[in-house]
Amino acid sequence: MTNRSLNLDDRLYQYLLDVSLRETPLLKRLREETAQLATARWQIAPEQGQFMALLVQLTGARRIVEVGTFTGYSALCMAQAMGEAGHLICCDIPGDYNAIALRYWREAGLGARIEQRLAPALQTLAALEAEGLAGSVDLIFIDADKVNYPAYLEHALRLVRQGGLILFDNTLWSGRVLEQQPDSADTRAIQALNLALKDDPRIDLSLLPLGDGLTLCRKR
Ligand code: CA
Repeated sequence: MTNRSLNLDDRLYQYLLDVSLRETPLLKRLREETAQLATARWQIAPEQGQFMALLVQLTGARRIVEVGTFTGYSALCMAQAMGEAGHLICCDIPGDYNAIALRYWREAGLGARIEQRLAPALQTLAALEAEGLAGSVDLIFIDADKVNYPAYLEHALRLVRQGGLILFDNTLWSGRVLEQQPDSADTRAIQALNLALKDDPRIDLSLLPLGDGLTLCRKR
């Protein structure tokens, strides 16, 4: 097949990093500390963090919501990019990793820009709507439990402003989206989301083969 996305082998991927990654020493340290955890695979790729920071700058996003924060790498990337006027609300469930995120955000001097809310994200998202944030969020990054992705989409469409962005992570799911009869509820949820997004008239979209697949949705 021609005119398709490139299949990156290790050498070409390393080249991509060598010529474009501008990871700060603090981000690198956070990534390396996170790599020691049993759940290290939850962390996004560094070039994805840099891309998301660029998106924040391109869109001028000032109010951002993140669903699934883990040790805070993507939040740190976005918070650095959004400037002093920005406010980032991070939703996650309580876990040992919450403290790692806080520690790095404070070290970066960005603690005041980031609000950590520890509860099931469906509760927090409903609370944000009840607090009057509907239609006011510039960008939402969704990277939490996959079975709730379809439900997160509905919350995100209410919270995001017209023209705002909704990002879904892991939409290629290590290739498991190709399974015909998946045993995993996560896989089935991602497949259902991808199919639904394709024909959803409320959004424009692009699925980027970046990291584990990142779908960008612009609310119409
Ligand atoms: Ca992810």
